[in-house]
Amino acid sequence: MSTTIEQPYIYRRRELVEPDWTRFPGWRDVSTTQWEDAQWQRVNCVKNIAQLRAVMGDLLEDRFYADLERDQNERATMSMLIPPQMVNTIVPATEGPMPSAGAAFTDAFYADPVRLYMLPVFSDRRTDWPSHPFATRDSLHEHDMWAVEGLTHRYPTKVLAEMLPTCPQYCGHCTRMDLVGNSTPQFTKLKLAGKPVDRYAAMLDYLQRTPGVRDVVVSGGDVANMPWKNLEGFLDKLLEVETIRDIRLATKALMGLPQHWLQGDVVEGVARISAKARERGVSVAIHTHVNNVQSVTPLVAKAATAMLDAGLRNVRNQGVLMRGVNDTPEQLLDLCFALQDEAMITPYYFYMCDMIPFSEHWRLSLKEAQELQHAIMGYLPGFATPRIVCDVPFVGKRWVHQVESYDTERGMSYWRKHYRTSIEAGDEQALSREYVYHDPIYTLSRAGQDWWRDHTDIHAVHEAALVGAGASRAASAADLA
Ligand code: SF4
Repeated sequence: MSTTIEQPYIYRRRELVEPDWTRFPGWRDVSTTQWEDAQWQRVNCVKNIAQLRAVMGDLLEDRFYADLERDQNERATMSMLIPPQMVNTIVPATEGPMPSAGAAFTDAFYADPVRLYMLPVFSDRRTDWPSHPFATRDSLHEHDMWAVEGLTHRYPTKVLAEMLPTCPQYCGHCTRMDLVGNSTPQFTKLKLAGKPVDRYAAMLDYLQRTPGVRDVVVSGGDVANMPWKNLEGFLDKLLEVETIRDIRLATKALMGLPQHWLQGDVVEGVARISAKARERGVSVAIHTHVNNVQSVTPLVAKAATAMLDAGLRNVRNQGVLMRGVNDTPEQLLDLCFALQDEAMITPYYFYMCDMIPFSEHWRLSLKEAQELQHAIMGYLPGFATPRIVCDVPFVGKRWVHQVESYDTERGMSYWRKHYRTSIEAGDEQALSREYVYHDPIYTLSRAGQDWWRDHTDIHAVHEAALVGAGASRAASAADLA
């Protein structure tokens, strides 16, 4: 008699639920009208420990606040900023009773996947290798590839327009930590020098002069922090650049502050832009950033649907792969099915977490990422099966199985590319060189870890290689001057 062995993952459709925000003492009297008001959400963002205490009341023990405070002083690359909508998805208590105040709630709060990346604490981080020796503030070297201030020309046909350096929420792992958000005790942020109006004009001028570019990611920061009329003004002009065929609006706020995208003036504005884009045969889509299924609530689905109803071509998700947040096939598939089935958001990418300082505890090895990609194949429709990608410095996104060679003992993977970035016009070796990506050292074998400990001088060697491969920021700033 044959027995039936269950699939590794069992698909179940789950109805979305908005967690009850009145479970938090500080929001006990907040009405639905207030909750659904974008301005109320912005005013009541949690920006510091005192505000977190006011929301949590007696739920959290002091040990958590001490841990958080130490992290903010000694490790944080981003300052604290979390809209109530996102706080409300931490320990959501939608599938069981709320843990009781004190130890039980604090333990659940510590273990929560949304908390893990939005409210990092000192004890989350590695103490053996808190940063990879080659971690850098601008780990993708986007600023080195600025064609004009804030416009990164990293791929032949695509550019990234960093419109502003702020977001409605600051994520602990932000890859643009060099520029985005407020300075922290450990990291002073870069400031954009030009006035917004001049920077936008320079971007549009560059695009007019560069017909090989057909695709613009309009990003930040988060475009939800631009007054809508300013964003619409820019998009209007962008749609007049004959050669632009794709525009993607980057906004994590579709999830973190869906109330923003549900405001009447914003929905009407999106409808005007969508109509103009259709007339011109241009695709305009939103790219959002959801990392865990807990974040997909009815309000998020409502905002995504409102954008599609207003005429946008698509809403896609680009998450970031992080340990404890979404590093199992079940977590990834639960998230993707919630996005695809319940929120009309297409699962598109999961990026490996970038090599910024103090990110080691979040990062996965390439091997782990490859295993996850393998594990999620075959469940979702092909068009909604996300690719797990490694954003290799000086190369760009590569599917994790595209690696050229991989030294698993030292955690060094080698990648190639077949196009030049904007800073490589005169670099004959750009297409034959191998570019390196590094696994977190603590994931390596004892021999691999010992090798890294014994090769402290390799940092200097690698630094020299990086300078050779790309212009330094100072040189790049001088080029723009
Ligand atoms: S929303 Fe995006 S740009 Fe803003 S802090 Fe988060 S990851 Fe960084």
